Amino acid sequence: MNSGLIGKIEKAHRYAQEPERIRINAITASFNGDNSSYNLSLEGDTWACNCHTHETFGDCQHVMAMQQLLRPMLSEDAQSSGQPGLAGAMDGTSATPR
Ligand SMILES: [Zn+2]
Repeated sequence: MNSGLIGKIEKAHRYAQEPERIRINAITASFNGDNSSYNLSLEGDTWACNCHTHETFGDCQHVMAMQQLLRPMLSEDAQSSGQPGLAGAMDGTSATPR
């Protein structure tokens, strides 16, 4: 392996410690909940999930879990749902999603 390539791999390790360098613009994911599997997505700053809770509140435990996992890589708007519903009832930093 040449030294240039080693440098790039070292850089990758450093970058992986600095997730705030990354801004996620869109995601599609399937989420294995306790009872069922759901399709969720992020498009720009807008989250969607096909579970009943999201349909009702505009927010849900699946999206909130994704927001906790990906927080440093999300825009400020994408870190919250923009809906006071669930986020108002549960503080995203200390709540245990169950
Ligand atoms: Zn959901």
